[in-house]
Amino acid sequence: MNLVIMGPPGVGKGTQSYELGKSREVIHISTGDILRMAVRSGSDLGKKVYKVMTAGDLVSDDLMMELIKNRLSQEDAQGGWLLDGFPRTAFQASALIELLEEIGQSINQVLVLDAPADEIIRRLEGRITCRVCNETMNLTGFGHLKPVFCPFCGCAQDAERSKPALYQRADDNEDTIRYRLEVFRKKTLPAAWQLEEKYPLSEIDGLGTPEEVAQRIRSVLE
Ligand SMILES: [Zn+2]
Repeated sequence: MNLVIMGPPGVGKGTQSYELGKSREVIHISTGDILRMAVRSGSDLGKKVYKVMTAGDLVSDDLMMELIKNRLSQEDAQGGWLLDGFPRTAFQASALIELLEEIGQSINQVLVLDAPADEIIRRLEGRITCRVCNETMNLTGFGHLKPVFCPFCGCAQDAERSKPALYQRADDNEDTIRYRLEVFRKKTLPAAWQLEEKYPLSEIDGLGTPEEVAQRIRSVLE
């Protein structure tokens, strides 16, 4: 089963992707991971990415498409994948549709997670990020316990920086969040509607506990 998951920051996309990766026969592919993997591989493509990233530039659409083609063609992706964080624009969505046709793959379901802006702001203000793996999670998901170990990578400490792995990002404040939500609605939602022309798409209500949202996703995928 091949899936695409989309949603604004703070909607719980990370948590749901992690759950899907655990419970389904899909490998979780995030653009961040693709970039890191490419650099680590030392391939020509990886060297190109390294150059762009160290220059502080954004990876171009062309380069990103090449990386995604590469990743989706690998052995471990043949049993199913979950694409997370891509496409972000209508242009990228068309490019992805073309690419999938080229490599003979398809998308079984596009999942669009969404929630009202106020709820997202409330959540993000309680959001923590892992310095080691860059995953994010919400404090409310942990009840009364303040987490020490990252549930994604298991780290408690960022050894390189000698700091606790989990921390609150400075840009998780209301103005920045509202701006990011606007970018999502203006740029990324059109990408979703573009994919919907070709593949099944479901809008998932991101309100409620992670378990409730996971249940909604399960019922769509059944
Ligand atoms: Zn982590």
